[in-house]
Formats: sequence, C-alpha cells, structure tokens
Amino acid sequence: MVRVRFAPSPTGYVHIGSLRTALYNYLYAKKMGGSYILRIEDTDQKRFVEGSMENLIGCLEKTGILHDEGPTYVDGELVENGDFGPYIQSDRLDLYKEHLRVLLEEGHAYPCFCSKERLEEVREAQRQQNLTPKYDGHCRNLSREEAQDRIMNGEEFVIRLKMPVNEEITFFDEVRGQVTINSDEVDDQVLIKSDGFPTYHFAVVVDDHLMGITHVIRGEEWLPSTPKHVLLYQAFGWEQPTYVHLPNILNADKKKLSKRQGDVAVEDFLAKGYLPEALVNYIALLGWSPDTNEEIFSMDELVQHFDLKRVNKSGAVFDVKKLKWMNGEYIRKMPMDVLVDKTLPYMVQSGYVSAEDGEKNRDHLEKIVDTFVEKMDTLADIKEELENIFVYRLEESPEVEEMLQLDTTSLLVKAALKKMEDAENFEPDTLKKIFKEIQKEEGIKGKNLFMPARIIATGQMHGADLMKIMSILGKEEVMDRFRRFI
Ligand code: GLU
Repeated sequence: MVRVRFAPSPTGYVHIGSLRTALYNYLYAKKMGGSYILRIEDTDQKRFVEGSMENLIGCLEKTGILHDEGPTYVDGELVENGDFGPYIQSDRLDLYKEHLRVLLEEGHAYPCFCSKERLEEVREAQRQQNLTPKYDGHCRNLSREEAQDRIMNGEEFVIRLKMPVNEEITFFDEVRGQVTINSDEVDDQVLIKSDGFPTYHFAVVVDDHLMGITHVIRGEEWLPSTPKHVLLYQAFGWEQPTYVHLPNILNADKKKLSKRQGDVAVEDFLAKGYLPEALVNYIALLGWSPDTNEEIFSMDELVQHFDLKRVNKSGAVFDVKKLKWMNGEYIRKMPMDVLVDKTLPYMVQSGYVSAEDGEKNRDHLEKIVDTFVEKMDTLADIKEELENIFVYRLEESPEVEEMLQLDTTSLLVKAALKKMEDAENFEPDTLKKIFKEIQKEEGIKGKNLFMPARIIATGQMHGADLMKIMSILGKEEVMDRFRRFI
C-alpha cells in the first residue's frame, strides 16, 4: 500500500511551496487508495517558532489537505491518530538513540570531536584549493578506547556517518529517472548533533523507514541530500523508498520564490481573501500538468486526474495574475449567501459596514456584493470598492469637465433631486425609473444623461452599475452629492 508523508519543520509560516508538497502527497495517497501522513520535524531546536505547529495544522485544515495519520488539534488539545506514532520528532528521541547504537556497533558511524574552528580552517583551506568543502575524516579512525575516554572526559562531540570510499550511489527518482553519484562527493554527514538531537538527515531516514513510507515526495531542494539518505538506508540494510523531487516554484524573474520578493506565506494569501479552494487549485498546476485542457478542478477532480508521471522537471512560475483570475472564478461561482458571509469581515474592515449588518442588514450586504462581484479578484477587493464609492474623489480630466459643463447637466441635477426627494425608496429599480423619466421629460439622452449623473454621484467616469452604487450610498449621501454640484 502507498504510504506518503508531508514532513514540515515548524519554523513560522507555511510557504506556498510547502503547501504544494503537502497537496501532491495528499493527491497521490488518495489516488492510490493509500495513506497520507503528517510528521512534524522539529529536531532543529534553534529554528523552532512558538505557535507554528498550530498555524501549520490550521492552514492544512483550511485548505482541505487532511492527513490520515499524525497530529491534530481537537478543542485546542493536541492528539495523534495512527499506528506509527509518535508523529512529532521531538517525541521520538529514544528511537533515534536506539538506531544510532546499531550504526555505531556495526561501524557505520563514529564520534567526531573536531571543534567548529578546526572545521572552518579545513573548509577554508579546501576553498583556497577550489575544492568543495567537506569533512576531512580527521576522527574517522580514532580507536574505540580513545573515543570512549574523550567522551568520559566531557569533550563535546557529534556522531558522523562513515561514508564508503569511492562507491556509486544510485536511486530512482520518479521525475528524473535513475540518479547516480559517487560517495566521495558526499560528506561524512552529522547524524547526531552535540546537543544530542538528531540531524534532519538521520531522523528523516529512521522515520520514513519506521513509518513504512513508500514514496518520498518533496521539493527539489532536497535532491542533493538524497544520496546521504540512500547511504543510510544501505547502512541499515533497509529498502529505499521511491523518490519524487518536485520542481522549484519560481517568481517572475525565474528565481526561487522567496519571502523577500513578496508573498509566499499561505496564511497571508488566505488573509488577503484568496479562497482555499482556489489556492489549492492554482498550486496543483504549479509543477504538474493535467491530461486535459481544463484548469478549474475541485479537490476530488484533482485526485481523479493526478498522476506522478505528469509532474514536470523544470521550475514552475508562480503567477499572481493567474491566481487572481482563478480566485475570481471561484468567487463568482459561490452561492450569494456564502459569499456574503465570507466577504463580511472585509466589508467590516472597510469601516462602511458593521458586523451586525451581517444579521440585520443582509439585503444591503447582498446588494454590495452583487454590485462588485464582477470586479473582485479577492474577497479583500471589496474594501477598496467600498472606499472608492464612499470617499468622494472627483476625477480630474477634460472629459469630466466637459460632461459637467453640458447645458443639460444642471437640468438633470434639478430634475434628479426633485424625483429622488419624492421617491418612496432608493432601490436600483426605482432609480432606473427616475432616470428614464428624466430622459423622457427633459429630453437628455444616453451618454449626456448617464455620464454626468455618474460623475456627480461617484466622482468617476467608470465603475460598476450606477443605480446599484447609488442605492448602496443611500438617498441622503447621493442627494448631498447632487446638491453640492449646484
Ligand atoms: N523537514 C523537511 C522540510 O522542512 C522535510 C524534507 C523532506 O520531506 O524530506 O521540508
């Protein structure tokens, strides 16, 4: 049975690339009827950020990438599901110790007492000779007794893997095929750090093996680490998993997407009003091409279509414009009621709507959403739309001048004020009727009627449906704007 895992380190926020790794693992597991496991890799105590596990699990839940095994929060309480736990590496330290003992006994690992300064000197000398910096094996052949004595004397040490000399290391990558590298190119990697914690390389192999992982699907940045992992599998005499290294996600200048160039945090996208479904749909297409020309996929459809064979080798460019387009498509497909609920927090943020309106003034909110939905790429766009209509800014242009100076414009204003005053309500249909009457009674037509009206009511020449906007602004505000014109 297929068993895959997403193994993030809780270091703060969830990178968009991590979400894609989680998603591909999830899709593959579902497609194959296998299990998708969430494992928390928190052995790097220096990088641990308080609260990041809650945030991470929350993000995965919101995006619907739900694991079959691993930790979750139930009523704020951390619980683990599955028979292969614990699923948090800092709870597995005894397991690493046990496995380390095996390696030491069989001579696949050794303690190294080299100081940071010495290691830096060695590296510097290698750099001077244009060699790739690498541990020089200084402690490789210390006798057991000497090592024991030094440990007893309280000297600081790490445990390193004893790499075989000049051996071909081969593994299979689903995206790149057979990869072969010589063991001399790989460092005698550290397995256990001086603080007694395992390194990523050691813990990842022990855990993937003990958890029965069949496919390791992860970002391309881990490709150079894979030979180290393969050697560990060999040292233990374990069967290797199949590897799938996903292409990098790039920004517009084809560099790896990083926090410095703008948004990469999933939580920031969600806070900005990207819908989780749209985000998932979009990132699914970053590095995988479906077997159809369609672009909009629900999670179930992604599972149906997903195929590791169609994962690309080359980097995928993260195109915010495309994401926005897709998000807009999802927004416009949403039932009005749901959309109003989802948009409400953003309308409240704008200050032109109150939280109570969600209950008390549903019609008004629906009117707002209906007016702007065509222009919305994100839920948060509603804020700007509201601000645009409620804060009056008169566009400065010759066309605006011309429209306001038409002979008919003052007639229009007078007639409109009178009719609005008498109107029994301020609904878009009523307003439409008012302008039809003015058209008939004053003989002002088309552009000469609607353009000055729009400019007076909104300050701008273009925008969403005028009658709807006026209705949202309300009688008092609109009449004020018309009066101010006189
Ligand atoms: N903990 C690693 C990370 O943060 C996991 C890499 C892997 O999947 O092996 O991405």
